[in-house]
Amino acid sequence: MKYELNHPEIRDGVAKLCKDFPGSYWQQCDREQAYPTAFVAALTEAGYLSALIPEDYGGLSLPMSAGAAILEEVHRAGCNAAACHAQMYTMGTVLRHGSEDQKRRYLPQIADGSLRLQAFGVTEPTSGTDTTALRCTARREGDTYYVTGQKIWTSRAEHSDLLLLLARTTPRDQVKKKTEGLSVFLVDMRDVRDKSLTIRPIRTMMNHATTEIFFDEMPVPAANLVGEEGKGFRYILSGMNAERILISAECIGDAKWFIEKASSYAGERKVFDRPIGQNQGVQFPIAQAYAQMRAAELMLREALRLYEAGNNPGEEANLAKLLAADAQWAAAEACLQTHGGFGFAEEFDVERKFREARLYQVAPISTNLILSYLAEHVLDMPRSY
Ligand SMILES: Cc1cc2nc3c(=O)[nH]c(=O)nc-3n(C[C@H](O)[C@H](O)[C@H](O)COP(=O)(O)OP(=O)(O)OC[C@H]3O[C@@H](n4cnc5c(N)ncnc54)[C@H](O)[C@@H]3O)c2cc1C
Repeated sequence: MKYELNHPEIRDGVAKLCKDFPGSYWQQCDREQAYPTAFVAALTEAGYLSALIPEDYGGLSLPMSAGAAILEEVHRAGCNAAACHAQMYTMGTVLRHGSEDQKRRYLPQIADGSLRLQAFGVTEPTSGTDTTALRCTARREGDTYYVTGQKIWTSRAEHSDLLLLLARTTPRDQVKKKTEGLSVFLVDMRDVRDKSLTIRPIRTMMNHATTEIFFDEMPVPAANLVGEEGKGFRYILSGMNAERILISAECIGDAKWFIEKASSYAGERKVFDRPIGQNQGVQFPIAQAYAQMRAAELMLREALRLYEAGNNPGEEANLAKLLAADAQWAAAEACLQTHGGFGFAEEFDVERKFREARLYQVAPISTNLILSYLAEHVLDMPRSY
């Protein structure tokens, strides 16, 4: 298979690093629902997680396409970047909207791995996709905000020092637009954990280290408010295109892993005295997934090109996420079907990757909500919600 290579040295380096974390490593983490600490430490040590942090703050100052290449290769190698990918996109909000003091205080330590910014608290149990309906509040008294409420699906909270949190600072009935009155905070969870912050893990169908978190008058210094009070929704939105672009790269990496695994198994496995891959019924779903993956890859490159040229490409980032998640899922389905019964056996890794792949039809944004975005913002149809 030929792919136009982009950042080939980075891709080679990541692929080499991933060789130390074979299927057996991920199987064990999955069985125990354990955080892949050694894998994240290796990525951190090699500098990959600081790729997007500017040199002035100790990072590598690489462009978004390098971040995408890193995450894609992790997934293509059969590993899973979900344990640490948030650092790449949450950090963007701090970079764009944080104060110089916040950047100097946190980014160098994030870059050298001594501080982890892996958690992102937006979703709540009652508001779901309707973010502006969130109920978590932050009340200011002097130089401190006090946060009360709950978040759900706050992934990696147990394995992060910092949490980027969206909370309401002005009640919804006191703002002109419901998108106003929300604020972003950089919460240092080390100070408040097990006091005014409680973290409870949620077991899921895949190993994702996700949690629900509860705040009970949790103090946050006003110095940790990101940007201006009340403008947080805009700050969170501005980071979402980067998140969608990076997640698309992971989906494409997974699609490549499934396609390579399926086509090689189809060539080896003999039934009725011939390779199963000789049957068009086996070939076609794999070839179809390959076509979808290549189309998604082109859209991702277009999104990256526009992003790196200084635009904020909402249409292309959403299209890339939609197409890449669909290609990934088509490839997952073809791969499992090609493996027949062995697709269900843990040692082949297919069932694990299959479970992991399903998430991207729902998170970080569901397929329906991307289609709504395209209908409303690209095709000028009326807003549906
Ligand atoms: C494993 C995992 C990890 C996650 N990690 C994080 C994290 O770290 N931080 C964080 O903040 N969030 C996280 N999330 C939350 C994730 O972003 C949401 O689950 C996702 O955005 C969907 O929201 P919801 O679950 O509330 O679904 P809901 O909003 O309840 O929607 C349920 C279904 O209805 C559909 N739907 C809802 N409204 C409409 C509409 N108007 N038109 C058409 N269809 C509609 C949706 O597409 C969806 O399929 C995570 C979720 C999971 C499962």
